[in-house]
Amino acid sequence: MIEIQDLHKSFGPLQVLKGIDLRLEHGKVLVIIGPSGSGKTTLLRCFNLLEIPDRGTLQLAGLRIDFTANRQIPRKTVLSLRQKTGMVFQSYNLFPHMTSLGNVMEGQVTVQKRSREAAKKRGLELLAKVGLADKTESYPHQLSGGQQQRVAIARAMAVEPEVLLFDEPTSALDPELVGEVLKVIRQLAAEGMTMVIVTHEMKFAADVADTIILMDQGVIVEQGTPQQVLRQTKNPRALQFLNRLS
Ligand code: ADP
Repeated sequence: MIEIQDLHKSFGPLQVLKGIDLRLEHGKVLVIIGPSGSGKTTLLRCFNLLEIPDRGTLQLAGLRIDFTANRQIPRKTVLSLRQKTGMVFQSYNLFPHMTSLGNVMEGQVTVQKRSREAAKKRGLELLAKVGLADKTESYPHQLSGGQQQRVAIARAMAVEPEVLLFDEPTSALDPELVGEVLKVIRQLAAEGMTMVIVTHEMKFAADVADTIILMDQGVIVEQGTPQQVLRQTKNPRALQFLNRLS
């Protein structure tokens, strides 16, 4: 489903990704952990070209992009990649002037060219799925952070992406609202949705991940099953990060 090879990204003189290689199979969950500033969000944003890597290749759901050969990525390629990915941001990023249902219908109507009727039907189904059947006509400012993030997840799902990308989906939430959002993500994992998740929630990472990668200073220092990365690592940089958490 996803394969990345030798991915590099700098911001000016700052090298943020220094040669990332990874693979993710269909229906699997990849969780990215690591210290703040290690490049996790930048890597995630490369998956849907919110950041354009300087070097390396990205393969996602049948599309292959060679960044070393192409400094200018055609708009058409960017759009088709975006249609294969759904992104959930730390700060929800809902359209403030639209209801929950409006938010979940928007991409279906504008990008997928669905009829408003079909978009509404799917929107209502998805809002029910994330536990918000009674909030379809609410505006974002009328919802809690946890509810807004669940609308954002329904919106990301609405366009039937091949992969869902989550950038620290619970880090802006009050602690008591984290659980309701993680529950929805767990449910998607159980249904076989392919997902890449950046998170600081270690217990959740251990539960939901098929593979965990631990990044530090722009490289992957450890990758494997949750057991291998969280319990059995001998890598000094991984141990330093994990020990600081406990
Ligand atoms: P993490 O998600 O692991 O906290 P990030 O990928 O957000 O790390 O950031 C990695 C480094 O890249 C940080 O030093 C950050 O300040 C820098 N960075 C991220 N985005 C930009 C940008 N758009 N311009 C300049 N520097 C950036």
